[in-house]
Amino acid sequence: MKERASEQTDTVPAPVREAVLYVRVSSKEQEKEGFSIPAQRKLLTEYATQHGLQIVREFEDIETAKRAGRVAFGEMVAFLQENSASRPVLLVEKTDRLYRNIKDWVTIGDLDLEVHLVKEGVILSDDSRSSEKFMHGIRVLMAKNYIDNLSEEVRKGMREKAEQGHWPTVAHVGYLNNSETRRIEVDPVRGPLVAQVFEWYARGDVSLKEVTRLAGENGLTHPRAHRRLAKSEIHRILRNPIYAGEFLWKGKRYEGNHQPLISKILFETVQEVFESGNRPKYTKHRHAFAGLVACGRCGCAMTADVKKGRYVYYHCTGGRGRCGNTYVREEELSRLFEDVVRRVQIPPDVSDWIAEALRESQGDKERFHRSAVMHLQQQYLATQAKLDRAYDDRLAGRITDELWLRKSAEWEAELASVRRETAKHEKASHDYGATGSKILELAKNAHNLFVLQDPHDQARSLKMLVSNCTFDRGSLLVAYVKPFDLLVEGNESGNWLASRGAPRESRSTPGSLLRRQSQKRLIDQAGIKAEVTEPKR
Ligand SMILES: [Zn+2]
Repeated sequence: MKERASEQTDTVPAPVREAVLYVRVSSKEQEKEGFSIPAQRKLLTEYATQHGLQIVREFEDIETAKRAGRVAFGEMVAFLQENSASRPVLLVEKTDRLYRNIKDWVTIGDLDLEVHLVKEGVILSDDSRSSEKFMHGIRVLMAKNYIDNLSEEVRKGMREKAEQGHWPTVAHVGYLNNSETRRIEVDPVRGPLVAQVFEWYARGDVSLKEVTRLAGENGLTHPRAHRRLAKSEIHRILRNPIYAGEFLWKGKRYEGNHQPLISKILFETVQEVFESGNRPKYTKHRHAFAGLVACGRCGCAMTADVKKGRYVYYHCTGGRGRCGNTYVREEELSRLFEDVVRRVQIPPDVSDWIAEALRESQGDKERFHRSAVMHLQQQYLATQAKLDRAYDDRLAGRITDELWLRKSAEWEAELASVRRETAKHEKASHDYGATGSKILELAKNAHNLFVLQDPHDQARSLKMLVSNCTFDRGSLLVAYVKPFDLLVEGNESGNWLASRGAPRESRSTPGSLLRRQSQKRLIDQAGIKAEVTEPKR
């Protein structure tokens, strides 16, 4: 590919960089001017020409609001992996063309590419400014949030189905989904066996393990995996009221319209057997930081003991033998975490600046919503006018009652659908802005709040900020969750507002050197090691 660049040196002075183009559109957007594939392609192609980029491959995905599996996206990732040596530039219209979820973000991040978000005017590379990376992180989260709001509609449909007494999703063992009626029906093979499982356990002297064994020997298998059921699965069956005619959906109990496999009395008897002590034991994390920190020596979980009635000591469970790790007091652990949280807190001037940039980036999305809502309003008025005209016609006797009833019902339904659609857009637009501000608020106040919280609330806050915490003889190692990793990076490098034209050599910039040094100093002084999750090289 380099040869091609040198061949053209007599016409193009700068060496030509290769670029890959990615366009994506949802089926809904496609109908609208300005969101179409040709429009994106035109924008990106012009951009490439202006910036001396040569497009070597184009990838195109057309999809529906929630259907997974973008074929071209996968092909593109494979192509970029294969051609990583020539380091092509990735051209995309804007953030939400590229990512559907955090996983996509990580995948693209791992490729270590230069990504140009043309409409947003952002170039992302390994040495982008922290603020730019952070803003980008926020946009990714917001794009996901938008999708979530649309899928809320799907959930609503399921709730409606549940309210009508129909199990809304995949059938449980013992039932089958009928794709024509969209109802669940008794599985002629497994149904009677599931009923038998209840009978066995209701006796009260047969253990769950024994029932599991009996079920397996009598041929009860998983409907899709075609294997015996595990003890935990048998346990869930015995606790599920769907077999007696009722079901739970999103925390609410519904009276089902399906055929029960067992009587309500048998179901209650089985529940009493569980209550009477013939039940599996549950372990609970009573201590705040247990479950949040693992042993840094052997990888086992950390658990806690109360000494002298009041001091809480955390220690390795020692599941793999003695590992030599020390005990740590809860207060000390909390102090170590306090330092972890302090590093996320951004200075007020930077947070003001990001808030400003956030408002600007929101403008784009707002415009999309406004135009969509305007379009819907026009549709609403047009339908309303038809309805009014037909009403006059009916009063004047120009149309029959039968026609009026049929047409007016049709138009009323249309109006209702337009109202729903409008509300959906308004909610999505509102939540879009809320996510960004929420993250920023959290970052701004994280440390101030943390010191006021009790350990249980501290642990809850920490779960939003960090993952994979390990403790090893007095020092704590954490990985920050996206996008907070970028805040830490920005705080430590001081690269928040560094100029746009910073040198592109990522591994030897003063910023990254400073970052390494300050990280090292932190380890020396506070006994804390920090891993800032950066894209892998
Ligand atoms: Zn250990």
